[in-house]
Amino acid sequence: MLPFRSHPPRRPRSGPKVVGLLGLLVGLPGLVLAYFGVLSVRSEAVVARAQFQERCEEVAADLYGELERRFAGLDQGLLRGVSRAGDAWVDPGAVGDALVASLPDVEGLLVLDGNGSILYPPPNAISLEDATFRRIGDVDRSFMGESFRLGEDAEIRGDDPAAAAAAYAASVPGIPGDRGKALAMNAWARALLKDGRPGEARAVWQGIARDHPDEQDWNGFPLATLARYQVGLSYLQQGELLPSARAFSDLLADQMRRPWSYGGFAEGVIARKLLLHLDSGRLVEALPPGERPDLDAARAHFAEASRRQRDQAATLALLPVLREDRATSEDSRVQYSRDDVGDVRVLTARVRWSAPGVKRLFIFTLDEGRLLGRLRDLIASAARVNPEIRISLVDSREGPLPLRSSGEGALYSLEPWVAGMMLVVGRGDPSKVDAQLARARGVRIGMVAAFTLLILFGAGVTARAVLREMDIARLRTDFVSNVSHELRTPITTIRLMGEMLAMGAVPTEEKRREYYQTIVSESERLSRLINNVLDFARLEEGRKKFRFARGDVGECVRQVARTTADYLHGEGFDFEVEVAPDLPRLWFDSDAIVQALVNLLTNAVKYSRRERHVRLTARRERSNVVLAVRDRGEGIDPKDLKHIFEKFYRGGDALTRETRGAGLGLSIVRAIVDAHGGRVRVESRPGEGSTFSIVLPVREEPPADLPTTPEEQVA
Ligand code: ADP
Repeated sequence: MLPFRSHPPRRPRSGPKVVGLLGLLVGLPGLVLAYFGVLSVRSEAVVARAQFQERCEEVAADLYGELERRFAGLDQGLLRGVSRAGDAWVDPGAVGDALVASLPDVEGLLVLDGNGSILYPPPNAISLEDATFRRIGDVDRSFMGESFRLGEDAEIRGDDPAAAAAAYAASVPGIPGDRGKALAMNAWARALLKDGRPGEARAVWQGIARDHPDEQDWNGFPLATLARYQVGLSYLQQGELLPSARAFSDLLADQMRRPWSYGGFAEGVIARKLLLHLDSGRLVEALPPGERPDLDAARAHFAEASRRQRDQAATLALLPVLREDRATSEDSRVQYSRDDVGDVRVLTARVRWSAPGVKRLFIFTLDEGRLLGRLRDLIASAARVNPEIRISLVDSREGPLPLRSSGEGALYSLEPWVAGMMLVVGRGDPSKVDAQLARARGVRIGMVAAFTLLILFGAGVTARAVLREMDIARLRTDFVSNVSHELRTPITTIRLMGEMLAMGAVPTEEKRREYYQTIVSESERLSRLINNVLDFARLEEGRKKFRFARGDVGECVRQVARTTADYLHGEGFDFEVEVAPDLPRLWFDSDAIVQALVNLLTNAVKYSRRERHVRLTARRERSNVVLAVRDRGEGIDPKDLKHIFEKFYRGGDALTRETRGAGLGLSIVRAIVDAHGGRVRVESRPGEGSTFSIVLPVREEPPADLPTTPEEQVA
């Protein structure tokens, strides 16, 4: 019930010891723990780095495993294909075509015999020429015969295309070999066109397409393809859109169906021209809707086919190297190499096959994009799952690797399959990863700091509590000795005087009255003390019952003045009483208020040895009634001021103290006033006196939660 915030000015001497001990037993271990906490957070960064490294290795190993499986599968396919082809080597063209068709990763195949000459593809399906146009004059055409030469002369002169056409037409039967015949027919058709006979020219070109489908011109162009293109072109020049469109779209469809020559470029050129005519001239719209070719699909198909031809051409250029029996190539059955030809990088796989008396070298041109495609897909999904890691496939021939140091990821070479290619697994965004680490570290260090503070705070609170308990123990001891002293003095006096009176040892009546008076006042003091102690005990235990009634508090003050006036005068005090006439009626426990005022007045007497003057007043102050006791005594030391309402607290120095008391008076006053919902004020200056004021609120209702009885309310 009583507030207890005791800070006695004198700390027991064991205080520092307790603080030191707690510091040693709690604070020090706390600090040591914190130190180790910080250390472990630091080492966590190292662990995190190691874990990251491990994760990188794991991801890289997974991907590398996939790559191994992929190439193991390819090896198997190539070896199986080669051995099957070797056993069935009857028609090299058909066997080679079937082999290429059965291996999806293969872009092209060259088969060489023991001497290094090409067995596959067949000569008419391979372009052994460079991809540069030769001037007609550079080619030896003497085998074409005299008539052909005459035609050429006439064509070069340009004045008689009809003669040129006739000479070319005459030369055809005499030329040996299909290629020469086809070449002469092409020249013949060209001359006919120049002579203004497109219909005849077309008939000759159609003859080439029909009779010599596999021949090439001087530059390796397939002549039949060229002838069919010329047919379409001549229709177009004559403004005959529908037959022109038909010729072009038929050729387009054919170009998409048939395999292109190995390493050539002519198909690509023709395909591009066909697309250009069909699309840009809107020639395609001349066709009935059902016959229109899908130009976009054709474009994609031709791009792919051109790329294959480009890789095949690169393989042809590498032939001298690939044909070599490299020493290292003996240890594995499939040899991969990745070489540059100009700005083309080509991936090839070589397999050797031999039977008694027969040796063959299979050179496969591989589709690198397709082979690594699945790996790239896996990389993309691994990157999604592990955003802290950056995974890339890097061509080490094209630039530096994106790794800052070897300790920051994993590096795998795709050797022996894709030489120069590297699988790099490293930190995603280093700043992001570092920030994440730093954040985690910050949180943990913050936690360590918070817990350390908590431990220290706990130690502080415990120390305070222990010190407080020690204070209370000390105050209790003081209290017991104070009370016993308080009791002993009046009892001794009463006994002494009583005995003297009983023995008749007091001579004069005046002296006897004085003794009686002293006995009365000492017993009053005794009962006051006992009342206070009992009240204190009741208040402490919450047993004290207040009996509130609405009444005139001024009357109560006057009553106190009446009963204490004699005592005060007897002690030599000037006693002034002033009760304002207009005091409102309020709810209070009359006995309790009397007790509080008596305690204040007793204190005024006890602590006024200098100037003996007490003033008791009751006045209204806004919505309160203020009862004040003012003395002109010693006053209160400011350092005592905030403690004087604490239980057992006594001001001043215990050794030099002259007054008697138990340190309960004011704490009882405070408890009583609290119960009334009021407060106690004190103003005091050392050497000038003190004023204690009880401020009671004027209320319509009795103080909350406190029992009243109907009769008492009327009182
Ligand atoms: P006690 O009087 O028994 O010591 P109290 O609780 O009544 O206990 O008072 C507590 C302390 O407050 C006193 O010891 C004294 O130092 C100081 N005190 C109380 N009333 C006065 C007063 N009127 N003038 C000076 N000091 C006072």
